Amino acid sequence: MSAQLIDGNALSTQLRADVAKRAAALQARGITPGLAVVLVGENPASQVYVRNKVKACQASGVHSVLEHYPATLSEADLLARVHALNQDPSIHGILVQLPLPAHMDAHKIIEAIVPAKDVDGFHVASAGALMVGQPGFWPCTPYGCMKMLASIGYDLRGKHAVVIGRSNIVGKPMALMLLQQDATVTVCHSRTVDLKSLTLQADLIVAAVGKRNVLTADMVKPGAVVLDVGMNRNDEGKLCGDVDFAGVREVASHITPVPGGVGPMTITMLLVNTLEAAERAAA
Ligand code: NAP
Repeated sequence: MSAQLIDGNALSTQLRADVAKRAAALQARGITPGLAVVLVGENPASQVYVRNKVKACQASGVHSVLEHYPATLSEADLLARVHALNQDPSIHGILVQLPLPAHMDAHKIIEAIVPAKDVDGFHVASAGALMVGQPGFWPCTPYGCMKMLASIGYDLRGKHAVVIGRSNIVGKPMALMLLQQDATVTVCHSRTVDLKSLTLQADLIVAAVGKRNVLTADMVKPGAVVLDVGMNRNDEGKLCGDVDFAGVREVASHITPVPGGVGPMTITMLLVNTLEAAERAAA
């Protein structure tokens, strides 16, 4: 039987409507939630991401400011801009689009953002808060995955979750979020031996690798839930995930498509985090 699709577009529409409602409530109190998006250089993919983020803000009643600088901007000048945005009361969230040009230390830049405005959730303070279960901003992509699981009423208690990928922005925070909800979590990576033997034990698999067909039908236990974070291009140049969608959907109980799955949720959770930041600032 074919798996049920977890529709990231439909869920995003719902969540963005809630963001718009909360933004209107803040507006009524004279506060406009504001997001600053900082882009350095001309990376074409980054330009698309940034455009989509700004567009999503506009549609949800979130004021956005796009600061686009040439790749020649010095690290000191970028730090100065981040410090200015930290002080700006009309800005509640700051997002510095990665990757940054090679002459900049991305870690140093992210650490310059005050944690109260770290709506990407990449600051060490945000990562630490997630680690110890304290309030903070969760990275948008794994946070979106958690919302997708909640949308199907998936109870993580006691489930075996296998996360493939251990990056700081997806895999590791994903594992911590799942652990926080009482899943038993296995984190796999490029040095994992016999990935298939692990995924076959999983009730839930999150694939966050960036390689096509990392997960195929023979690696999935019947009835498992599969979330596909990967963004790749197939031979025809079309967007696809890490999962062999056609095969795995015949084995899984629920699966996210690419496109239309985790992708839209990432931007949605950025809006949610920005609203949260504005509400906290207004409290
Ligand atoms: P990343 O930093 O490159 O991390 C990839 C991870 O996959 C690493 O931990 C790596 O292991 C692991 N890996 C590589 N080959 C593997 C293999 N054959 N088997 C098992 N693990 C393997 O990537 P990322 O930033 O986490 O992103 C992952 C994917 O998600 C990319 O396609 C990215 O474009 C996509 N993404 C999508 C969204 C969205 O909104 N949909 C958001 C963010 C990212 P090592 O640590 O050992 O190198």
